[in-house]
Formats: sequence, structure tokens, C-alpha cells
Amino acid sequence: MAAYEFVDHAYDVVVVGAGGSGLRAALGAAQQGLKVACVTKVFPTRSHTVAAQGGISASLGNMGEDSWQWHMYDTVKGSDWLGDQDAIEYLVRNAPKAVYELEHWGVPFSRTEEGKIYQRAFGGMTRNFGEGPVQRTCAAADRTGHAILHTLYGQSVRRQVEFFVEYFALDLIMQDGACTGVTALKLDDGTMHRFRAKLVILATGGYGRAYFSATSAHTCTGDGNAMVLRAGLPLQDMEFVQFHPTGIYGAGCLITEGARGEGGYLTNSEGERFMERYAPTVKDLAPRDMVSRSMTIEIREGRGVGPNKDHIHLHLDHLDPAVLHERLPGISESAKIFAGVDVTKQPIPVLPTVHYNMGGIPTNYHGEVLTKVGDNADTVVPGLMAVGEAACVSVHGANRLGSNSLTDLVVFGRAAGLRCGEVVDKASKVPDVPASATDGHIARLDRFRHANGSIPTSKLRIDMQRAMQSDAAVFRTGKTLEEGVAKLRAIHAAGADIKTTDRGLIWNTDLVETLEYDNLIDQALVTIEGALNRTESRGAHAREDYPDRNDVEWMKHTLAWKIPGDAVKIDYRPVHNYTMSKDIDYIEPKARVY
Ligand SMILES: Cc1cc2nc3c(=O)[nH]c(=O)nc-3n(C[C@H](O)[C@H](O)[C@H](O)COP(=O)(O)OP(=O)(O)OC[C@H]3O[C@@H](n4cnc5c(N)ncnc54)[C@H](O)[C@@H]3O)c2cc1C
Repeated sequence: MAAYEFVDHAYDVVVVGAGGSGLRAALGAAQQGLKVACVTKVFPTRSHTVAAQGGISASLGNMGEDSWQWHMYDTVKGSDWLGDQDAIEYLVRNAPKAVYELEHWGVPFSRTEEGKIYQRAFGGMTRNFGEGPVQRTCAAADRTGHAILHTLYGQSVRRQVEFFVEYFALDLIMQDGACTGVTALKLDDGTMHRFRAKLVILATGGYGRAYFSATSAHTCTGDGNAMVLRAGLPLQDMEFVQFHPTGIYGAGCLITEGARGEGGYLTNSEGERFMERYAPTVKDLAPRDMVSRSMTIEIREGRGVGPNKDHIHLHLDHLDPAVLHERLPGISESAKIFAGVDVTKQPIPVLPTVHYNMGGIPTNYHGEVLTKVGDNADTVVPGLMAVGEAACVSVHGANRLGSNSLTDLVVFGRAAGLRCGEVVDKASKVPDVPASATDGHIARLDRFRHANGSIPTSKLRIDMQRAMQSDAAVFRTGKTLEEGVAKLRAIHAAGADIKTTDRGLIWNTDLVETLEYDNLIDQALVTIEGALNRTESRGAHAREDYPDRNDVEWMKHTLAWKIPGDAVKIDYRPVHNYTMSKDIDYIEPKARVY
């Protein structure tokens, strides 16, 4: 083991991830006067947040009346009553503040005639508790994530956050149940680094790449989630995977929901605007789970478009080309490149594509990571926080509303920064770490670096992605899920015979992809086991054998632990069916009709 000498670092706070959530948390902790490092496997402005198109929700009311109470109602209803209502209240009440803060830091939002922040309609966002669509999503054309990420990076540098770019975090350093740091491999020279910290914040994003067709970047492998599983801690609600209705057919890349927000609509092979049948009030602006299911039903019943009748058309060709040019320039270009379509003249071929993970690391609304000890499922894990798509705070519950993720990143990134100010003692010493706390990290790295079996990583990865795509899909049944569990267990077991070819440590992409695959397979297992276990339909989890939502038995969060080997242990956490403050009522469950 002498081959791996650690380069040692000590910080008050170490943030892993430099997407919107990681940068906002790092910046927030630095604002509290703490010494902060941000460790990231890609350059900050290449994080997946850069690809966010449509916008960020906040009830600014720039385009007509709006209120945080309406936003709260929509988010609870969108979550199909699995969201924690205290966290949702925190989200929507702080959203306007967070957006104005971004504006003042320099985000170039699109503007109305009067110079206010432009807002567009998005799915599930309604006025007056469901009466009809409202324009609540603040946008910088269709490049909102790009604008936010670049602004936050600039502000973090200004606040002296220290960046460790192209460092691949391996595992959490855990001592007596508390997190005291993280280890990382520096990708360009192969040196090993040990970041000791009083507090670690995971902001590592989602794990869309467990699936074959996803809108997310190839780097979205949920590394932080997997580190949490290896640390013996649970992940929450992993069975809830969002399919975005409008991935470009074949390529999988995203056409923002903002396209429908600007007036776009879907048609089947009969030219029918079929969403009018499924959601008479909000039509094409129903929440994503409903639109994805409706599209899948149309295709199954033989009304898909194209020679194989296997996709759907999205029309923007009736909109003014000047509006398309001003508000949706990015997706007009994507449609041209990836589908060969001129959006001013032709419909775009689209298909539901994996887009977002509602599940992740359980936290409270301060960003503190939770686990279950005895009967207390809200036990805080000392020294560990999580934010962004990696976390499950849980404001999105069983289904996220479009444009609520960017809000989640900045609101809870900010909350985590503020909490650091309260819980981190600047004067205390950064914890020491004995070698025994990191031996396992090195053993895992070494196992993959020298893996000399017969199955290349790429084969296991594609098998996993195909199994997830076919067996943990938009619609699920006990049978497909059981088949999926069996396939994934076999793929997991075949990992014992994995083969890597590059034995070096300088820019070893073979090794990094293997570490990422190993992270993904654990998450795939807890996802599909959770889906098999949940015998109801709620939000994005649609069981054909259990078509109804069952609030009596299932209005609870799944907690899933990965036991060494391929076993998954499942337990539950109550949904917070209470609000943060006394002045507003808990929103009672009812049927989710749009
Ligand atoms: C195409 C697309 C469009 C979207 N559009 C919208 C939208 O319009 N509105 C909206 O609200 N939401 C949108 N979303 C969702 C939203 O953008 C994401 O949920 C959000 O950006 C995730 O941000 P994050 O900070 O959690 O992580 P990411 O932005 O994914 O960043 C993850 C970070 O973690 C780092 N990291 C990961 N693993 C490691 C490791 N092992 N070691 C070191 N660093 C690591 C990466 O380097 C990166 O910096 C969209 C998503 C996609 C894919």
C-alpha cells in the first residue's frame, strides 16, 4: 500500500461537486468565513447543470398574479403527496429570494417589456390551486443552467473557494458514524489525496446513466450516492425515476418543457392533440409523469408516428419564428443537429427519456444527511450534508415538477451554507484520520486497477443500462421488475470477473469508468428492488399490477441499504405531513387530477 501515499489537505468544509448545488453550497459556506474546498471530477462549468434549459421556478408574479402558497400546493400535488411539506414550504418561500440573489450576482435573465425577469409556463405550475397554467419559470432564453452555473462559478472564485478540478472522489472517510473527510484520485497525475474536513457536502448529481437512454451527461453516475451506500447509510425513494416526455427520438437529448410552455403541443399518428383527453385543464402542460404515460399509451395502442409507429410529434411549427429564435434558440439548434428538423416547418420526433432522479441521499431542509437509528428515521449523520440532485430533501416526492430542480439547487445549497455557519466551529481542529479509515478505499481502487478477469466494463455497463431501460420503465409490473432484479443481480455478480486493461494512473479513463460503473450498479439494484417492493402507483412509479395510489400503506419514504454482496435491505421513513411554520396548513392528500 506504500505505492499510494496520500497528499493531505485540511478544510473546514469540503464540497464534492461543482454543479449548481455544489457551487451554491461552497459559496454559502465561504460567506460564513469558513475555509472551503470544492472537489470536482469535471471542470465546474462542465457540470450537468450547464445543460439545464427551461428555467428556474419562483412565484415572482412578473407575468400575472402568483403566490408561494400556489407554488407550494402545485409542488405537493406534483409530488403525489410523497414530498416532505416542511421542506417544500422552505423551498417555495425562499425561491424568490434565491432568484433575485442570482440576478444580483449577474445571471442574464430574459426580460419582459418593463425590464422584469421573464417567466414562462411549465408543467404542473398553476394559478389559484389548479385553475389553469401560470407563468412561474424564470428563464435565460433556453440556456438558464448555463447562465446560472457560470455566474455561481465566478462568485465562488471571488469568495476564495479553493477548487480541486479533475479530482475523482472515491469514498467518504467515516469514523464512529461521523464523516471526517473524503479521498480522491487526481486524474492527470494519478496522485492520491485525502481531504480531511469538519464537514463534507455531497453535491454529486443524479445517476441517469444507469439507463440506456438519458438526457443527462455521461458523467451523471451518482458517485456520491454510491459512496453513501458503501458507508453503510441508506438512500431514499430511489424507485422514483423521472422520464422527460420530450427526449429527441434516437438521440435522447432534451427538448425543454419550456417548448410546450411557449405553446408547443404533442400529436399522435392521427394528428390528434391527445393530451386534451388525458389532462383536460392543463393539457400539454400536465406534470411529466402523466405526459410520459399518456405518450406511452398512445404508442402502445398503435397511434405512434413514424414508420415503426414508435414515437410522438412535438409541434412548434405554428409559433412565430421570431419567438423561437428569441426564446428557444438552443433547442431549435438541437432539433436541427440531432433530428434533422427545422422547427419552424416540421414537428420534432420525441420519446420519453430518463431525465431526473427524485431519490437520493435523505436530508432535512438544512441539508443534513439522515439515517434511521432505532425508530428515529430523522437521525442526523454528523459531518455529512447533501444537496442538489444527489440529495432527497424531499421536495419532489414521487415526481418533480419541471424547473423546481434549479430552485432546489440554489435554495438548499444556500441553506446548507447557512447551516455550516451554525454547526462548524472555526476554532476547532480538523479531525485526524488513521490509515485504517482509508485502507478500504485503496483496496477498492486497487481491485479495479488490477482487475484481470474476462468481462470488460463496457459490456457490464451496457447490460445494466439495457436491463434498467426495459424492466424499470415508464410502466412497471411485478413480473418485469422481478426479471430486472434477477438480471441486475447476475450482472452485479459478473463484476467479480471484470477486466480493465490500463494499469497506469495517469488519465486512466478505463479505471474511472469502472469506478463509475461500480457506483451505478449499486444504485441500479436499490432502484429496482425499491420498485419491486412498492406495490402501488404514485408519481413516476406506475405499477400496472397496482394501478392505484395507496395512501394508507404507502404514504412513506423507502429507505434502502446495500448489504455487501447483492442484497438490499428496505425500511421506511414517515413523510413529513406537517409544515415548517405555524401559519400555513398541511395540504391533505387527494386525487391528482389536472
Ligand atoms: C438536459 C437537462 C436539462 C435540464 N433542465 C432543467 C431546467 O430547465 N430546470 C430545472 O429546474 N432542472 C433542469 N434539469 C435538472 C437539473 O439541471 C439537475 O437536476 C441539476 O442541474 C443537478 O445539479 P447538481 O448540482 O445536483 O449536479 P450536477 O450539475 O450534475 O453536478 C455534479 C457535480 O458533481 C461532480 N462529481 C460527481 N461525481 C464526482 C466524483 N466522484 N468526484 C468528484 N466530483 C464529482 C461533477 O464534477 C459535477 O461538478 C435538467 C437536467 C438535464 C439533464
